Amino acid sequence: MKILCCEEHVELALDVMVDESETFPTLEKTGEDEISTCEYCDNKSVYIVGN
Ligand SMILES: [Zn+2]
Repeated sequence: MKILCCEEHVELALDVMVDESETFPTLEKTGEDEISTCEYCDNKSVYIVGN
């Protein structure tokens, strides 16, 4: 499971991931050339929360 999120929603994404996977999630930065939007708004995503 992966959640793409912006700076604003990174805490929300981490919370959701902890709830769903019950393990501590990994946090990576998206690449410069990666064009994707936040799960929760229309901002460009900055982080990938994974597990
Ligand atoms: Zn967002």
